[in-house]
This record gives sequence, C-alpha cells and structure tokens, in this order.
Amino acid sequence: MQIGSGLYSAAVAATLEVSQLCVRYTDITAVSGVSFRVNPGEIVALLGANGAGKTSTLESCIGLRRPTSGHITAFGSDPTSISARVRTGVMLQTGGLYPSARPLAWLEYLARLYPTSATPRDLLEAVGIDPTRRTTNRRLSGGEQQRVKLAAALLPRPDLLYLDEPTAGVDLVARRSLVDLVRAQAQRGAAILLTTHLLTDVDDLADRVVVLDSGRVRAQGTLDALTGATQALRFTATPGLAIASLQADLGSGLRVSEGGAGNYLIEGHVTPDVLATATAWCARMGVMPQGLTSSRHSLEELLSTTAAEHSSDNDSPEEST
Ligand code: ATP
Repeated sequence: MQIGSGLYSAAVAATLEVSQLCVRYTDITAVSGVSFRVNPGEIVALLGANGAGKTSTLESCIGLRRPTSGHITAFGSDPTSISARVRTGVMLQTGGLYPSARPLAWLEYLARLYPTSATPRDLLEAVGIDPTRRTTNRRLSGGEQQRVKLAAALLPRPDLLYLDEPTAGVDLVARRSLVDLVRAQAQRGAAILLTTHLLTDVDDLADRVVVLDSGRVRAQGTLDALTGATQALRFTATPGLAIASLQADLGSGLRVSEGGAGNYLIEGHVTPDVLATATAWCARMGVMPQGLTSSRHSLEELLSTTAAEHSSDNDSPEEST
C-alpha cells in the first residue's frame, strides 16, 4: 500500500534516500527490499511491531551497520562521509551519554567536535535541563537523560536528524516541549527520521509514515491518506451473530469482524449502501444495532490490520541461505 506519495515528488532532492535495503543476520533477513525517502523539512516515522526491522534500518542509515545489499544516500552521498556526518544529528535509544560527565560539560565536549555548533547552554535550556546543574549524566532520571540526548543530537544544527524513540520515558509536560523542538527543526528545513511505538508522537509529528512488517514496507504515505483510505462502521448487538452472512452480503471489498463480545466492525470503504446492507442484515437477524458509528481507521487499527494481513500471507522473516 502506498498512499499520498505525490507529496515526495522526484523533483525535490531527498535528504535521505533508502533504496532496496536488505539487512541479513546469521540466520534471518531482518530488512528485505525497503525503500523510502525523507525530504528536507519532512518528518517521517518508521513504524512497526517489535522485530519489524526498524532498528536495523535506522542503524544502516546512520552508518552503524553495513547493509547486506541496497543503497543509502544522505545529501546525495555516502551517509558515513565526513561531509554528511557533520550535518547529521543522532539520538539513539541506548548509549550516547558519557556517564560521569555533567550535561553541560558533555555537550561542550561534543560541540568542539563539529565545525560549527549550536550553543550547549541554549540547547540544554531548550530541552528543560538547567545548564548549571551539577548532577552527572548517570544520575539523571531516564526522561532527563532523553532530553540531554536530544540536545546533543541538535548540536550540529542538523539538516538530517535521526530520533529513535525520542520521547520514551519523558513526562507529559516535557514531552510537549520536545515535540515543539523537533517540529521547529523540521520547520527550519531538517529532514527527520523517527522511530516510535507511541502513536501520539506519530500524530503530533509525522508528515508521513513508513510501516514495516517483517522487514518489508507494508504501507507508506501521509497519515491522513493512510488512515482515511480505510474506514470503519461499528455497532454493538447480540454476541455471536453469524457474521459470515453479513460478509457475504457486503462482498469481498469489506471485512467484517466481531472484536469483543457483541462489538461488530466493518472495515473498508464505508458508503451509505454499506450502512443500508448492515442494517438490513441486522433486521434479518432480528437484532437492533446499538451505537452505530462510522469513522476513519485509527493509526493503531492500520498497524494491526497490516500485521494481520501479513500473518494471513504467511510471510514470515526469511531464513537466510
Ligand atoms: P523493536 O521495536 O523491538 O526495537 P525493530 O523493529 O527495531 O524491533 P530490529 O531490532 O531491527 O527490529 O530486529 C529485526 C529482526 O532482526 C528481529 O527478528 C531481531 O531479532 C533480529 N536482529 C536484530 N539485530 C540482530 C543481530 N545483531 N543479530 C541477529 N539478529 C538480529
């Protein structure tokens, strides 16, 4: 599924371009033919269940892992080149903080490694850490460490920014300012690749999502296009009704399920005809549907549908040969 792709026209030079990426470990293929691009000023979220291949993809993009095959360019050249690295900011889930340094001293050290750098004090203030604080990195709380790591990633005023679970463990108030800070980076033209399991991060930040499943791209496009493409009609009625007959009435373009006891869901392109078919079926069953609502798919539903489609394809990660 590829929706809303018109947004990233080939006329715009992508900041990050990933083409047919494959990452194979000893006995499994973690990433298999993944392609996507991130344009200047765009925030793309890489989504997927545990083991979908997000980290392997991210590590390959950053240059921490050598892909088995495929092609990655940052600013049109090798992402590991010095010219690309000095324009790239990275915030990983683990590591990245020297434990016995204080936040300001650590950022000042890192700042000296870049040809030009933002001011460490300003960045610490922007992420809500008092620059005069004497606590060492190791004694900061998990959420505070995340904030220092984000400040460190922003030191080179990056044109390409990788954020691996940036708001994990961050309290709600601090999360708000981190989200604003990340958005501001995109507004000044940075291309941002984000991985997260938090759908609120996706809602608040992502211009586009790439959904990975067992190492393959299962869907990509704008959030609106992906979630709007599939709609849902819900109602409650007596549990255990024979939904096979409703499925037959609706045809193969729609999918009927009973989630919890008596909670019925029709997914697909929901039109007034679909509504009429569903209510006529309820009348035949002799039940009164309650709480009939139609809505767009939520992102959560999109992700679980993707996973369900995949498991029915019986398309598990390939064993390498
Ligand atoms: P999560 O959301 O849990 O972080 P992920 O989407 O980031 O998962 P990856 O960490 O890329 O997924 O892992 C993809 C697959 O590759 C998994 O099956 C994982 O067990 C396997 N894998 C990852 N790293 C290695 C490695 N170094 N050696 C062998 N297998 C690995």
